[in-house]
Amino acid sequence: MPEKISDIADIARNLAEVKAAIARAAAKVPRAAADVRLIAVSKGHDADAAQACLAAGHRLFAENRVQEAETKWPALKERFADARLHLIGPLQTNKAAAAVRLFDAIETLDRPRLAEALARHMDEIGRRVDCFVQVNTGNEPQKAGIAPAETDAFVRLCRDDYKLPIVGLMCIPPVDEEPALHFALLREIAKRNNLTELSMGMSSDYEIAVEFGATFVRVGTAIFGAREYPVVS
Ligand SMILES: *Cc1c(COP(=O)(O)O)cnc(C)c1O
Repeated sequence: MPEKISDIADIARNLAEVKAAIARAAAKVPRAAADVRLIAVSKGHDADAAQACLAAGHRLFAENRVQEAETKWPALKERFADARLHLIGPLQTNKAAAAVRLFDAIETLDRPRLAEALARHMDEIGRRVDCFVQVNTGNEPQKAGIAPAETDAFVRLCRDDYKLPIVGLMCIPPVDEEPALHFALLREIAKRNNLTELSMGMSSDYEIAVEFGATFVRVGTAIFGAREYPVVS
């Protein structure tokens, strides 16, 4: 069932505001706003919130946990067959098969064992899922992602040995640093690997990401408001 009318209206209005901000940021560069796809990050919100966003005409979403996505998205995808879902949180190897079944893109490929598991499950299930390599642009020890210096070799391994459909790179800059430096670094690594898609920018910095070439921005709070329940990432 839909949420309260006020929440649906809030989400539709926030969505329109974020799209307008993307268009303004794109015009500064300038680049075509249509080349920036907005991913609505519905983690931490229930299916009603995602449904309100779908009802407003939006079709591209992301979740950061396989288990949480499994509670909401099979039913939503039945009703909105053209909805697409990206995984943006760490993926354990033992959840790789479930991720291949449910998601349309996996943005957090960051290690050889996961590449092997995804390739095997895609073959077994008969479903190709676009992959982004997550790069730990800040070389933060606690953070997921492959080190910038190891990214070229890892992309080659994924493409050549595992034949994975690698479409681009993804990053989450360190919270206390200038995101632009990280966005520029991600763009440079993508360019030298002939990768066209750049997933970068969240509620706090998506406009900067657009200026630095993002083709996907991942926005949660600015669309849905504060998360209703805590999210492990
Ligand atoms: C939660 C999350 C987002 C969205 O964050 P907001 O600040 O709510 O926009 C984007 N990317 C990743 C990887 C996330 O985990």
